[in-house]
Amino acid sequence: MSLVTIYPDFYKDFQCKADKCQHTCCAGWEIDIDEKTAGKYQTLPGALGDTIRENIIAVADTWQFRLRGENRCPFLRGDGLCELIRRADESILCDICANHPRFFVTVSDYELAGVGLSCEKSCELLLADTAPLALLTEKGEQLTLKGLLQQLVLPVSDEDLCYQTGLTTEDAAFVLDCMQKTEPIDAAWTSQLAQLWDVQIAADGEVPQVFDRIYQYILYRALEHVPAHGLGAVLSYAQLNTDYIYLSEQLTGQLDESIRRWSEQIEYSTENVKLLLESLA
Ligand code: SF4
Repeated sequence: MSLVTIYPDFYKDFQCKADKCQHTCCAGWEIDIDEKTAGKYQTLPGALGDTIRENIIAVADTWQFRLRGENRCPFLRGDGLCELIRRADESILCDICANHPRFFVTVSDYELAGVGLSCEKSCELLLADTAPLALLTEKGEQLTLKGLLQQLVLPVSDEDLCYQTGLTTEDAAFVLDCMQKTEPIDAAWTSQLAQLWDVQIAADGEVPQVFDRIYQYILYRALEHVPAHGLGAVLSYAQLNTDYIYLSEQLTGQLDESIRRWSEQIEYSTENVKLLLESLA
């Protein structure tokens, strides 16, 4: 049986910001090269082939780009553009570089697609609207998140599909305690986490409508974990992470960057996602 692919409605608007990006995804990560592309690089003729081979290394049983200072991809130019694309075209890219930040996860008979929030363009697209998350099938049919959950036979109430506001000091302490158990991505994360303990939560603070949308998108992406961890844990996971983003935004005043940094720390760490889900089960 073929899978039905679902997209958030803003997926079609994704376009990498390239040299306009302040937080390039071409630095800070190890970049694994898929087997097919690694084979192509090994036999690519000419000066470009030679340059690529000088800039990749074998790590265990996979190939990676040989990162430079600050873990920058060797082909990331000073102006933020990709040297490989400039010298060839996008077909030269390995799978990770060609697909990032797109994700595709399988849940039952559905393939859920989207763009990961560690990318600032993805955050901009998510925050460009305050309406509830709208989904589309590959044929362009509209679907609500509730409709998708019904198709997946996952019973939820309307309340389950909204971010629960009214975060108390005790709730915030629980959120921060959970986050403190995750493996930090860098020293800046640890430092900000320490500062978040001092955030004063206004008892009657108005929470912008867009937090429902953030919560719904986190829930959408986490649906792949329902079979292993249960729907209750996944709903709590969406709430906990949205609480964290809310707290971070209270500290920094920057919602887009709060989401992006959360994503780097949690969404892009299989271990940290698992750790949170297990602690919420
Ligand atoms: S983080 Fe997003 S916008 Fe920035 S370079 Fe990567 S894909 Fe492009």
